[in-house]
Amino acid sequence: MSQLITRRSALVAAGTATAALAVRAQTAPAYTLPKLPFAYDALEPYIDAKTMEVHYSKHHQAYVDQLNKALAAAPQWQGRPVDQLLSQLSLLPASLQVAVRNNGGGHWNHSLFWETLGPAKDSKPSGALSDVLSKTIGDQAAVEQKMVAAGLSVFGSGWVWLVMRGDRGVELVTSPNQDNPLLSGRQALMGIDVWEHAYYLKYQNRRAEYLGAILKVIDWQKVSARYTALLG
Ligand code: MN
Repeated sequence: MSQLITRRSALVAAGTATAALAVRAQTAPAYTLPKLPFAYDALEPYIDAKTMEVHYSKHHQAYVDQLNKALAAAPQWQGRPVDQLLSQLSLLPASLQVAVRNNGGGHWNHSLFWETLGPAKDSKPSGALSDVLSKTIGDQAAVEQKMVAAGLSVFGSGWVWLVMRGDRGVELVTSPNQDNPLLSGRQALMGIDVWEHAYYLKYQNRRAEYLGAILKVIDWQKVSARYTALLG
């Protein structure tokens, strides 16, 4: 009797463990928040710690969660690199395209944004990027001035992008919402978030002031390295 109970208990326990594993496998998210490459307060005083915390742990997390939720309906696409989803958006089921565009875009855009930010250290474009910028846009002051103007020109929420063109030149473009250059088959070297959630706590409606501040914490070494890598 006691042996039977033990055996039955063991079976129940094994069954529970199997069920738990199955649940975990089903719910393991395909997309996760990347580790932030700096502390929340690392961009002070330009970008305050509270804004960074909310922006990363709430807004970016929500895009990740919503992307996972949307792709639960299309397992064959789940887990594919986000840049692939966005550059092949028209191949996805039509019912998912808006959700993937908005939330996959949100995830990819913020992941790149964090990668190109860092504590203010007066960094400058270097190497091939420095050359191409001075040939096509101007010196760093001109580039920054045009980035501010582009940011101010976005009506509502969106992004400013420095993109690599097909001829390997670069240009500044803007996008609405969470759209990005991948949607039109182009590579982004960096993006600047001009959604109010990126600055409202500290700058309220003063977008120009925020743009001036965010330019202090762009890590141009990382943007330069990205351009060199994309040149191949
Ligand atoms: Mn944002």
